[in-house]
Amino acid sequence: MSQLLSTSIEYLKGVGPKRAEILAAELGIRTYGGLLHHFPFRYEDRTKFYKVSEVNADLPYVQLVGELVHLEEIGAKFKKRLVAKLRDETGTIELVWFKGVSYFAKNLKVGDKYVVFAKPNEFNRKINLVHPEMETLVEFKNSVQSKLQAVYASTEKLSKFNLSSKSISRLLKTLLPQLKYKLNENLPATMIADYQLLDRESALFNIHFPTSVELLKRSIARIKFEELFLIQLELLKLKLVKLEKSRGFVFGNIGDKFNGFYTEKLPFELTGAQKRVLKEIRIDLKRGKQMNRLLQGDVGSGKTIVALMSILIGLDNGFQAALMAPTEILATQHYEGLKELLKGMDVEVELLTGSVRAKKRRETHEKLEDGSLHILIGTHALIEDKVKFKNLGIAVIDEQHRFGVAQRAKLYKKNSVLPHVLIMTATPIPRTLAMTLYGDLDVSVIDELPPGRKAIQTLHWYENKRLRLFGFMEGEIAKGRQIYIVYPLIEESEKLDYATLEEGYQHIFKRFPAPKYKVSIVHGKMKADVKQFEMDRFVNGETDIMVSTTVIEVGVNVPNASVMIIESAERFGLSQLHQLRGRVGRGAEQSYCVLMTGNKLSSDGRLRMKTMTGTNDGFQIAEVDLKLRGPGDLRGTQQSGTPINLKLANLATDGELIEKARGAAIQLLKKDPNLEQQENRELLMYLREKNRGKVNWSSIS
Ligand code: ADP
Ligand code: MG
Repeated sequence: MSQLLSTSIEYLKGVGPKRAEILAAELGIRTYGGLLHHFPFRYEDRTKFYKVSEVNADLPYVQLVGELVHLEEIGAKFKKRLVAKLRDETGTIELVWFKGVSYFAKNLKVGDKYVVFAKPNEFNRKINLVHPEMETLVEFKNSVQSKLQAVYASTEKLSKFNLSSKSISRLLKTLLPQLKYKLNENLPATMIADYQLLDRESALFNIHFPTSVELLKRSIARIKFEELFLIQLELLKLKLVKLEKSRGFVFGNIGDKFNGFYTEKLPFELTGAQKRVLKEIRIDLKRGKQMNRLLQGDVGSGKTIVALMSILIGLDNGFQAALMAPTEILATQHYEGLKELLKGMDVEVELLTGSVRAKKRRETHEKLEDGSLHILIGTHALIEDKVKFKNLGIAVIDEQHRFGVAQRAKLYKKNSVLPHVLIMTATPIPRTLAMTLYGDLDVSVIDELPPGRKAIQTLHWYENKRLRLFGFMEGEIAKGRQIYIVYPLIEESEKLDYATLEEGYQHIFKRFPAPKYKVSIVHGKMKADVKQFEMDRFVNGETDIMVSTTVIEVGVNVPNASVMIIESAERFGLSQLHQLRGRVGRGAEQSYCVLMTGNKLSSDGRLRMKTMTGTNDGFQIAEVDLKLRGPGDLRGTQQSGTPINLKLANLATDGELIEKARGAAIQLLKKDPNLEQQENRELLMYLREKNRGKVNWSSIS
């Protein structure tokens, strides 16, 4: 069977070499299977009829029934056109053809009743229908063809080669009969029964030629389920295999470093969530398999301490550790924070970033190689080839969405037995999306903030509240607080943004003049040491206001900064706004976030502001964000390394179905982990083919 589906599309009647080429180039359709899985993107409802009097140019398409009352060829040669009139009990409408004039002139008959289908068009203030589809009422009534008509995506090039939506539909009409009784079911019968799924053949036939709305719905549901289930099956199987095969260092000891830190240095009681996550990590670290854990926790939830304590377990077992951060500022902050926490302990920590001088760098390399250095903190500089650990046992990666999969792989490769990996992210990912993007990782969540935090108050103000904003800032500075003001930075218009930032800075500088007030500025074009200097002044409380672009987005911790003002907030995405807001609310004081926007907001923009003022819960925000943006942007964060091939299912909106599909996959692997049972044979073959790198939908059957 798989042979029939992998037949080159060229051989389908009506295709041929030239159109095959176009189909491949424009739609990626190369085989019969490819065409079968080229799904419509919408349907036209041919069950509904309009009256002539109801037709207006805003309707996407109309279907009318009436009598042809007039037929006339007008003009000569190239300007020749055919004009007809159709009448129903409410009026008359004009039909026009510029092409196929003689064909229609010969075949249409005045006095006959027709069903007409077209997009209404306005010409000289009159509505007409250009190149309508025509069927006599008798034909229409006799045609068994579905009244829900599939519409396929088209491009100019496709139309030019006569491969418009209609033609694709015709090709499918040729193909489907050849596939009848030949599309094997790939899901086990028990699953089909349990989840009340439509069988595969009916689903694939009905999605192209629906015989009823009900069947169409069930077809879509079945195909989506199948897509999601196959991904989950693959991811979960991958996880099983990885676990079986992977060898990891056994961190069997909890020794002086961990215990000493816990009893003498830890400046606060861990939250319940932190304790729970640490327990999960400890189990990972001692079972002899490589840990691959994603730690999700909202900004300020206290991930750093969990990372540090995991690192200390590594040290207790004689290993080195790495902590990698995406920006120099953040790496430096981690370095300083950890040094402070570890003060008085026998632990060597060094920082490695782009701006560390050559001499210092060489020293660090040496200490790393002879094992006298325990913890190395840094940016991308950590994964340079020159950097060699004596025995790296655990790597922590902060804010991982900034790192590509390849970069991480490079870090892992620094050792023959894989070090344990803990990935921390402050970008909460909705559960169902995490199931897919991180389906083969273990996920821990810190879902509790340290005690004593006051919820950040978020306000959305328009430009007309600018004076009030300045007054508010004065008040907060008078109370001894510090303030962030953030301007957008979008790569395409970097120049413009920079100008806005400069202008904003001048404005603030004038409104909050020295010596009474002190203002810092940080942006991406600054040299690292200047940036660091400005940053330090703010961190040390020497300046009141920090004007910056989004370079401070990630991780920076200044507990005394209690006001975050975001300029042109409508230009930020939700997750970014949430990240920025997370810079405040770290101390004991009441914190504020003010979103400044222009008066004209898109509906998306308004929803983003409303979401921000409505909740502080990162997971709730992530859900809205996912719905607004779709999962597309998140692809870059994909951890699984498995291409996600979804044609119908949508990671943003099919959450419930994802849970169902994952449940089904877990159930199945529990009963039959190696897919040895007869009813799972098709699934086994599918996974085998996929493992061989033949990612091909047609191979499923
Ligand atoms: P994030 O998860 O955003 O990386 P951090 O680890 O930077 O958060 O922690 C934010 C702040 O909360 C830090 O100042 C940290 O010292 C403090 N903190 C972390 N855990 C606790 C706790 N259990 N109790 C009190 N404060 C804590
Ligand atoms: Mg952090």
